[in-house]
Amino acid sequence: MNCPVCSRQVYKACMSFYDDRYGYPGEFSLVQCSACNHRYLKHEFTPDSIKALYTSYYPRSSFSLERFRPRKEVRGFKAWLNGSRRSAYCWIPPKVRVLDIGCGFGESLAYHAARGCDAYGVEVDENIKRVAERFGFKVHVGTFEPNDYSPVFFDYVTMDQVLEHVVDPVETLRGVEQILRPGGKVIISTPNSSGWGAHLFGRRWINWHAPYHLHHFSVQSMGLAAEKAGLAVEQVRTITMSEWLLYQWIHVVLFPKPGEPSAFWALEKSKADLDKIWIKAMTLVHHLKINHLITRMFDQLGVGDNRLFVLIKK
Ligand SMILES: [Zn+2]
Repeated sequence: MNCPVCSRQVYKACMSFYDDRYGYPGEFSLVQCSACNHRYLKHEFTPDSIKALYTSYYPRSSFSLERFRPRKEVRGFKAWLNGSRRSAYCWIPPKVRVLDIGCGFGESLAYHAARGCDAYGVEVDENIKRVAERFGFKVHVGTFEPNDYSPVFFDYVTMDQVLEHVVDPVETLRGVEQILRPGGKVIISTPNSSGWGAHLFGRRWINWHAPYHLHHFSVQSMGLAAEKAGLAVEQVRTITMSEWLLYQWIHVVLFPKPGEPSAFWALEKSKADLDKIWIKAMTLVHHLKINHLITRMFDQLGVGDNRLFVLIKK
């Protein structure tokens, strides 16, 4: 399998993984491209078979309209401590036209609308239909299709924890470029497999997330993917949600056997497992804000677990 970003076929093997969250069967090997340092999962998924994978294995949380809350404005010390600005949506200025690819239940769309934006969303989870009908959101249910929009229509496009899931990220970025106006920007958040977490936790790092994460971008491979799509990297930084570290500690302790779903990640969490003394101790550590300080330190050093890329259309 050639590198999905630079198309070269020179790589070294990194590690092999199984689905350590939802128990999808099989082993998947991750390789690193020797030309652009892009890490990618060797797989045989097609856009169709990947739909089947998500339908059967990826849990969809049940959604109640009454509990719908727009995303909040994040600023101030507490937001900084929590790493809240890790998400793409909070980098969008008011009164612009924005598309959120992978908009979930539409919380970001409500946030943008309240700030005078003309907001659009794309989401594969059909739960979004009910929300969109109730609140009048402009949402396309399904995958992102650039031809659904007029060319050079948007000021901003956001992809929060999305690009690592798609089969062909360069094609996705080309589509995004098509609908952006010149000078328009794409804000992308995606896990950083060159950060401290992947080094320390090895195969138990939460963000390998095989076989759902097909790509782990290097700064170089994102730059190349952007260039191929007619975009340029304007900014790269790491901002990570402090809660990821709590999830990480729990994941290390409750790491499942191959083919078994994790007691932590499964939708119906196992109460007996979560009652363990270790989990309680780690939750206490989290409440004492120790995870927050560790996360802020590594983000400051530029080796945090989550990268934020800003790409601009030339
Ligand atoms: Zn490559």
